[in-house]
Order: sequence, then structure tokens, then C-alpha cells
Amino acid sequence: MASERVTEAMRRIVAARAQNYCEYCRCSGDFATESFTVEHIKPRQVGGENTLENLAWSCFGCNSHKHTKTYSIDPITKQPEALFNPRQQFWNEHFSWSSDKSEVIGKTPCG
Ligand SMILES: [Zn+2]
Repeated sequence: MASERVTEAMRRIVAARAQNYCEYCRCSGDFATESFTVEHIKPRQVGGENTLENLAWSCFGCNSHKHTKTYSIDPITKQPEALFNPRQQFWNEHFSWSSDKSEVIGKTPCG
């Protein structure tokens, strides 16, 4: 059931479920300089609800970059691709770290 707003209890559950790691880039909130936030996987502007299934724990950078997008243009195929959904997909199937662990590398069109 959808809530009118993201409650503090929902925020705590989302953060704990993610173990305080950004669900998009896997950076740790323990070492971030800016607070992590609850992000709507399907943005509210396009009907996304305040349900735990639609919420992800996100760093400021990922949340700002994703904003209200639900898809992006694949730079290789030039076709629209749905963005990663941490509730329905596995991060390791779509992303990896660079050898020096400084960058997240997309492995699939979604990633
Ligand atoms: Zn992130």
C-alpha cells in the first residue's frame, strides 16, 4: 500500500535494506560527504508511488543524475534503454568496477 509520503520509518528500512550503500553505484554512505537519500525508482512525476518496492537508497550524485529519468539512450545502439532497477535486477549483472575501483563500468545496455 502506498504512503502519502516517504516516512522516516520507510527511510530507515530502505537504508538498512541497502546496508547504507547506494543501490546504483555501490558507494558507501559511511564515507560520503553528502547525505544519501531515498530515491523513487519510478519517479513520482510518472506515477511512481511511495512504496518500499519503488524506493532505493541513493547517493547524491546518482540521485541527481537519474532525477526523473526512467530510460537513457544507449551510446552504442542509440536506442532508449530502461535504467537499472535495483528491486528487479542484480547489480553485478549490469555493472562492474574498473580495475582500480575508481569507476563503475556498465556491462549491459541497462548498465
Ligand atoms: Zn550512487
